Amino acid sequence: MVMQAGKTMDHPCGARAVARCTELGRAPYSDMEGGLFRPYLSPSYRATCGRLAEWMRDAGMTTRMDAAGNLVGRYEGLAPDAPVVLLGSHIDSVRDGGFFDGMLGVILGIETVAHFAQQGKRFPFALEVIGFGDEEGSRFPSGMLTSHAVAGVLDNPDPAMSDWAETATLSSALEAFGLDVGQMQSASRKGDPVVAYIEAHIEQGPALEAEGRALGVVSAIAAQYRYRVTLRGMAGHAGTVAMKLRRDALAGAADIILAAERIGRAGKDGLVATVGSLDVMPGAANVVPGEVVLTIDVRAGTDATRDRAAAAILEEARQVAERRGLEMDVALQQDLDATPCDPALTALMEQAVHDVTHAPAPLLVSGAGHDAMIMAHLAPVSMLFIRCAGGISHNPAESVTDDDTDAALRAMITFIGLFERRFG
Ligand SMILES: [Zn+2]
Repeated sequence: MVMQAGKTMDHPCGARAVARCTELGRAPYSDMEGGLFRPYLSPSYRATCGRLAEWMRDAGMTTRMDAAGNLVGRYEGLAPDAPVVLLGSHIDSVRDGGFFDGMLGVILGIETVAHFAQQGKRFPFALEVIGFGDEEGSRFPSGMLTSHAVAGVLDNPDPAMSDWAETATLSSALEAFGLDVGQMQSASRKGDPVVAYIEAHIEQGPALEAEGRALGVVSAIAAQYRYRVTLRGMAGHAGTVAMKLRRDALAGAADIILAAERIGRAGKDGLVATVGSLDVMPGAANVVPGEVVLTIDVRAGTDATRDRAAAAILEEARQVAERRGLEMDVALQQDLDATPCDPALTALMEQAVHDVTHAPAPLLVSGAGHDAMIMAHLAPVSMLFIRCAGGISHNPAESVTDDDTDAALRAMITFIGLFERRFG
């Protein structure tokens, strides 16, 4: 139990935040034995919301569940109808995930409020902590469902959408939670005076660790294209078809993979290019590969950099196919624009990180998607990244240090103070 772990745990601090995330990593806060799996609207999700709500109330907040199943805690401002600063991240996890992805941002929000509540400090804005129910697509084949609802950009949720386990529909899962799919869109905060959304999150990459820095500030969430490329050559006997007569689809794919890597490496703005999946047909040791399906995933901090890199990779792929006598089909499967974080809030967050770490804040592009990219439809957003060991996430080995988490908490507290000074 957190409160028995020593005196240092009686006040908001990095060690308590880490201990709380760790406590929520097992039953009843996980649906999986020997690991963490916390899908949206599951029994473990309910238990977790209950525990988080206790901590929110301890931190001076009132709590409620919104119409999309998000947990919301509110610490009133100086006036009852004050504008709102939202602090948050997501509560759900992938199967066999880590303790900190998402949850650390929710807990740091609570710790930030707890710090001010202990001082009896009130602001000309209310502080609300939001734990989103679905970011990962943990229960249904639809990620960031609940931030879409809050941002007011959830278009006609499909009540009949089946969960991965095929045990419930969106409608029945919400009903079992005491909610109504027909009301889900009323979780929208459009029209409310939400003036900022601030999300702290583990980096999920190795850049901060490589730079020896605890904290970073996100400049943008990456633009992404994902393509499915089919290469068709000619299958044939591996022993009898002469090399010069071959139309080997896999050898062509190999050229394309190396081109994607080379173009990705040469880029700026956080450009990355990945071939993460290959299907080889017929896939036998004694057959020249006749058909290959591969994915090409291209991401960058700006749409323009992503567009240029994707065009260059596809142009090289076309040349490879032509040279090798392969037919090529390209289908665009994912098309997400970059989400720039708000420049003014980002500058404040950089200043907060500088004040706390006594060094300029590294600016990072987030290659992974986050609720913040959806919340940007509602309000200016800023994101704080926290170093995680080895850049590992979506894995039980995910870890952060107490010291880094404490620095993150102090940066959040400093940010709120800076925001107050600039406010109004
Ligand atoms: Zn996450």
